Amino acid sequence: MMPKQSSGQLGAPAQRGRGGPGAGRGRGGPGGGGGRGPGGFGGPPMGGGGPRGRGGRSGGGTQGAFGRPGGPSRRGRKSKKQRRQEFDQMEAPSFGGVSVRKGDGSTIRLARGASLTDLAEKIGAEPASLVQALFHLGEMVTATQSVNDETLQLLGSELNYDIQVVSPEDEDRELLESFDIEFGEDEGDESDLAARPPVVTVMGHVDHGKTKLLDALRRSNVVAGEAGGITQHIGAYQIETEVDEVERKITFIDTPGHEAFTAMRARGAKATDIAVLVVAADDGVMPQTIEALNHATAADVPVVVAVNKVDKEGVDPSKVRGQLTEYGLVPEEYGGETMFVDVSAVTGQGLDELQEAIVLTADAALDLRANPDMDAQGVAVEAHLDKGRGPVATVLVQRGTLRVGDSIVCGPAHGRVRALIDDNGNTLDEALPSTPVQVLGLTAVPGAGDSFIVVNDDRMARQIAERREARLRMAAQAAGARRKTLDQLFEQMEKGETSELLLILKGDGSGSVEALEDALSKIDVGEEVSLRVIDRGVGAITETNVSLAAASGAVVIGFNVRAQGKATEMADRENVDIRYYSVIYDAIDEIEAALKGMLKPIYEEAQLGTAEIREIFRSSRAGIIAGCMVTGGIMRRNASARLLRDGVVVHESSIASLRREKDDVTEVREGFECGLTIANYSDIRIGDIIETYEMREKPRD
Ligand code: GDP
Repeated sequence: MMPKQSSGQLGAPAQRGRGGPGAGRGRGGPGGGGGRGPGGFGGPPMGGGGPRGRGGRSGGGTQGAFGRPGGPSRRGRKSKKQRRQEFDQMEAPSFGGVSVRKGDGSTIRLARGASLTDLAEKIGAEPASLVQALFHLGEMVTATQSVNDETLQLLGSELNYDIQVVSPEDEDRELLESFDIEFGEDEGDESDLAARPPVVTVMGHVDHGKTKLLDALRRSNVVAGEAGGITQHIGAYQIETEVDEVERKITFIDTPGHEAFTAMRARGAKATDIAVLVVAADDGVMPQTIEALNHATAADVPVVVAVNKVDKEGVDPSKVRGQLTEYGLVPEEYGGETMFVDVSAVTGQGLDELQEAIVLTADAALDLRANPDMDAQGVAVEAHLDKGRGPVATVLVQRGTLRVGDSIVCGPAHGRVRALIDDNGNTLDEALPSTPVQVLGLTAVPGAGDSFIVVNDDRMARQIAERREARLRMAAQAAGARRKTLDQLFEQMEKGETSELLLILKGDGSGSVEALEDALSKIDVGEEVSLRVIDRGVGAITETNVSLAAASGAVVIGFNVRAQGKATEMADRENVDIRYYSVIYDAIDEIEAALKGMLKPIYEEAQLGTAEIREIFRSSRAGIIAGCMVTGGIMRRNASARLLRDGVVVHESSIASLRREKDDVTEVREGFECGLTIANYSDIRIGDIIETYEMREKPRD
């Protein structure tokens, strides 16, 4: 059914999961066991050079990047083992006069992504000494930068501590356990389990027809004259189909694209049972097709291929079969285990067969059952704030039955279920496993991928939500403290603390990378700032690139390539700036502008417009409102403004609010009337002139 996963890399994320019902129970299908990597951590396989992957890099370029004067000599390179032995020989090893006390073997718990400062705090050491200790072990990180699991554990073992890295999911599980709740576990005995419909995500390359297919599948199933027949897009829907004369349901997640899928998975949510990979017959397998396939494979989710647009003239659907065979998806008709269905989202051809293929694949590869007789649990697939109804979340019930009146926690939101609404706009009293429903009654808007659970009472729901909220706040603060963005780099440079922009270049071919590096090296904005390429290579931006960027404070440039796998996620976490270009000149322009930006900016005032006050209104909410005619240029909300009376400036501030008729607007142009308020100022008169302007950075030449 599934292509065998190259173990380790792809198997890793799934492994970290809770082994929830979808993932953990014995899969009938082959491929089930394939991807489970050997024990250990979920991280990328280590290259010869250790977690930061310095190993294979050429020459001293990379190391030089760190520009560490006085660090241990890198020339007579010692192996990691040698260094470790050396380290072990020291009772209280001293680095540059700072010693690190050895631990007593006790267990230290750290949140995933903790920094050396966090570790230092727990073991009563100086952060700087840990930085040095790690440096001695061949790892270069700053005290506040978040460090990966392996590195924390390596350092821990050297210092004689047992480091336990706790993931956010673990932490959350512990939180729930403290309330005697288990998420996704223990659904009772075999006899308690009932079959549930498969949950399907549609993935594939852009424009191959995912949206159209989701619409077509849905439309083909709206029973004529059904009560409340108006279908609503709530983020997921359920259809019924007949397979072997049995009515079967299928749930579709209605946010196509693997972004949604990946985002959910990144949060530990496993919502999808089966992936439908849409490939347009006239376009064939494209990069995002493969990306989508990789995501499905990584999540250990069986794939059904929909070869779409077969209504188009002259297309050859068998070509897609041939192409995908190369990627391990062998069609059943060629003796493989993947079902391929030719469809047209436009004419409706093949839709029944596609539904059948989904059901058959689910039956063959998965054991989709859940206990409907327990408090409901599941995952939010979409949520928003509705003006009239407050927070509205579409949840997918994964086990148990969700009922109106239940006390519920969903991520950091909680509440009592006030109403359940299905995808046809009907209100329900209860929702069974695999049913998507909108939930009203939450106190806040949860995130897509947040899990939900029904708990005993409102109080418990509130307590759990508050604890999560507090944890999120703390994590955000910690991340903020660590933040080292390009902006901050610029700030440091402005202060003269650093004057070098470090870059990592990745491109689609060695020629383009060389050309880019060459062109970049010619940028000259003067003595004050400089640019240095610390690493370059051909191919996608990898986690190794991102970790080097994080360690050195470099910016990653992707030229006609994109970040791969978890690199984007990691870049977000580590606040690494990745910039994408497809035109060399754009890259040069922007880097040059960035370098110039590091020079102290010079600002100049740029006039935006003028308006004359014609009337004055009073509003209980907004205070004094100036009714104006824009006599030149534009009025813009939040723009700097000065108030002139008889040619004299009487006040300087900004436009606090701006309205046309009854609507808040951002801009009003010359010749139109508007109502506006001036920040912190109400002493206005008819005939006063308002002048708006903004400070623009004056380009250096
Ligand atoms: P998405 O980006 O994958 O969601 O693709 P869309 O569903 O937006 O479809 C992209 C384009 O392909 C649209 O113009 C659709 O009308 C068209 N399209 C989608 N499915 C079919 C099909 O089966 N046959 C034909 N001829 N065109 C299709």
